[in-house]
Amino acid sequence: MPNTPPWVEAALNERRQQSLLRQTVTLEGPQTPNATFANHQYKAFCSNDYLGLANHPELIRSLHESAHQYGVGGGSSHLVCGHLAPHQALEEALADWLGYERVMLFSTGYMANLGVISALAAKDRPVAQDKLNHASLLDGAVLAQAPLRRYLHGDVASAEKLLSKLATPGLLVTDGIFSMDGDLAPLAELSKLAARRDWLLMVDDAHGLGCVGEQGRGSLALENLDAESLPILVGTFGKAFGTSGAFAATSHAMADYLTQFARPYVYTTAMSPAIAGATLTALKLIQSAEGQARREKLAQHIAYFRHRLSQLPVKLMASNTAIQPIVIGESSTAIKVSDALKSLGIWCTAIRPPTVPVGSARLRITLSASHTDDDLVFLCDSLECVLTSLQ
Ligand SMILES: *Cc1c(COP(=O)(O)O)cnc(C)c1O
Repeated sequence: MPNTPPWVEAALNERRQQSLLRQTVTLEGPQTPNATFANHQYKAFCSNDYLGLANHPELIRSLHESAHQYGVGGGSSHLVCGHLAPHQALEEALADWLGYERVMLFSTGYMANLGVISALAAKDRPVAQDKLNHASLLDGAVLAQAPLRRYLHGDVASAEKLLSKLATPGLLVTDGIFSMDGDLAPLAELSKLAARRDWLLMVDDAHGLGCVGEQGRGSLALENLDAESLPILVGTFGKAFGTSGAFAATSHAMADYLTQFARPYVYTTAMSPAIAGATLTALKLIQSAEGQARREKLAQHIAYFRHRLSQLPVKLMASNTAIQPIVIGESSTAIKVSDALKSLGIWCTAIRPPTVPVGSARLRITLSASHTDDDLVFLCDSLECVLTSLQ
């Protein structure tokens, strides 16, 4: 074994002392509300499988079928020879669903955001972002070597002030639904602001697509936006779609541009064609009556959870989505709460800085259509027990 450099040990020790060390946990079965690890069964409330599609029999069947017909590996980037029929079919179906001219697939949401922002921003095309945007959106600006400025969370006046201070227009970027808070960005107003000042609006709707809006069309539908008022929409498949990968929806011209200049699109292997096939099946489910029923079930769970929690000594956040955080504050306390829940049979990983601002460590409770009513009762009873004893 080579010697570990001392700065590696030092960084690890620092994280450990601050209760910030992160580690993986190995699940012994599929992603469902019934998680087994270390030989114990838990009810899980921290996955992003909001509609319960990750282990859906239709998706499993579709993955098998696509693999039989098109194989497992893409074999190359989209531009060399890795763009197969299932990729094209998925792109076209997504474009139809959302009302855009073109959709481009990416291997992950992280890469879609790096790709789009690094291609569009530059030294003289700054990036303005919400303070609570996802890390991948911030990293996109770093990759672009573009000026990155951040406005107050969800605050259009703050965004306007920021834009007015910058000499040249650039890219205005926001999450649709914020990943750690669950609230919706003021998209309609941001869209007007961008149009007024000649900035390009880009929205990452990882947590909205599939879950909210008519037909599950996401934040865009909630805020009555379209391809004109929202020129670049990024979506991901790792959450409500239950698979993996991501896409950017935009115009023909912009897609042609990104095809040349988005390096995380050009220099990477296309997603597996089998995953593309399964993702198309997920999209059809999301659009179907079953998808609608799953969204309604999820909405019921959210309403029940918020009703129960409103009777407890905690501050609920302004979220009507599957993401229902309980802010605890100190990281060490958040871990204690998470451990106490675990001893009752509930799994909800504490989310700590730097994922969330210092002093706002939290339980990021996520609900899914695959939870039962009994699961919700169990969760709320357990929270009642743990949170009241914390007082
Ligand atoms: C999860 C997430 C991503 C990253 O998507 P992956 O496909 O998991 O890489 C990007 N943006 C937001 C807002 C997310 O929540």
